[in-house]
Amino acid sequence: PQRRRISILGATGSIGCNTLDVMSHLGGRDSFEVPAITGRSNIGLLVEQARSTGAGFAVTADPDRYQELKSALAGTGIEAGAGPAALIEAGERDTDLLMAGIVGIAGLAPTLAAAARGADIALANKECLVSAGDLFTAAIASGGGKLLPVDSEHNAIFQVLEESQRHAVDRIILTASGGPFRNHSRQQMAAVTPEVAAAHPNWAMGLKISIDSASMFNKALEMIEARHLFAMQPDQIEVIIHPQSVIHSMVGYCDGSVLAQLGVPDMRHAIGYAISHPRRTGLPVERLDFAALARLDFAAPDEERFPALALARTAMRRGGLQGAVLNGAKEAALEAFIAGQIGFLDMADIVAAAMDRLDDGRKAQSIEDVYAADRDARDVAQSLIARASRIAL
Ligand code: NDP
Ligand code: MG
Repeated sequence: PQRRRISILGATGSIGCNTLDVMSHLGGRDSFEVPAITGRSNIGLLVEQARSTGAGFAVTADPDRYQELKSALAGTGIEAGAGPAALIEAGERDTDLLMAGIVGIAGLAPTLAAAARGADIALANKECLVSAGDLFTAAIASGGGKLLPVDSEHNAIFQVLEESQRHAVDRIILTASGGPFRNHSRQQMAAVTPEVAAAHPNWAMGLKISIDSASMFNKALEMIEARHLFAMQPDQIEVIIHPQSVIHSMVGYCDGSVLAQLGVPDMRHAIGYAISHPRRTGLPVERLDFAALARLDFAAPDEERFPALALARTAMRRGGLQGAVLNGAKEAALEAFIAGQIGFLDMADIVAAAMDRLDDGRKAQSIEDVYAADRDARDVAQSLIARASRIAL
């Protein structure tokens, strides 16, 4: 039988490694061909992954690491590439499905390229929809491939949203663990370090998304992601704190029924579902033990301590390029927080100020407009970061 072709952007990351793990459980090289994989700084792991999958093309996003990658792949028959153009080429290599697992806006161009060529897209990179929702959904439509959400909340909704009942959907309810600072006061939150912020209570994920979970910027991005994926109005998207992360999200219908998808917090579930869709296949994930769980808790999110949620609603209401501005300013502020330049709570203040300053109602006509909004947002954020870190000194 023909092997299924799956390319992986961001193979060396948390999503990428989980994807390769799922693929090896589903038959490995007997079942799958890997036209292209990409990473950035972890060249050793990228080489190992390229060799073990027999990838056609291995790309590092870092142009300075090209020689290192090329010599490590010498004699393997695996092509090496580096830099932004090679990333796009990786996205364009013929494949049945592309796993979009690069973190940040860097994932947009190669994923758009794959979508436009008609590959099915398993989408983990939420920034594609947050920054360029309309362009991205248009690229999927013109390419004709499927869009399969991998973010666990959206994957859950995708699992329970009956296409034939789409008109009857009243609301979608995104669950949020509340992160490590669920019960912290604002004063305590002001003093937290990146190490503490990165320690997610339930999910093992990459550094940036873990800190975004602690600030709830991750949930803010997910609200905007949900709006584009499921064509919802902003007021149809709710967030509920659910510390156990067992309910991955829910859909409420006009008759009052609410359908939920449950499972242990393990990304291989959503990844496996996206890869296998429309079938289901056995996965090496733990089964839920309801008796051991005993209870599921819920609470309304506190928007004073977590202003990111209100910022997402503002971005959706304003429309235009505000999603790209929110994300660009957030990425800059997050990097400054990781570098110890600003405090945890400064991140939301910086994003809010950048969104206000760059609210001009313009819409994205092309990816260049998205990049420009992203750059402008980072510039505004940088000037605020410089000011905040001077004040802190
Ligand atoms: P990681 O940080 O673990 O991995 C990111 C991947 O992207 C790595 O392969 C990394 O390479 C590569 N990379 C980093 N920077 C760049 C860049 N500038 N250009 C190209 N490639 C780059 O992230 P995650 O796997 O956690 O997350 C990936 C995406 O999936 C994010 O958008 C995240 O929001 C989303 N997501 C993740 C979930 C999770 O469970 N982890 C859950 C839901 C969504 P290298 O490591 O070699 O430097
Ligand atoms: Mg999520």
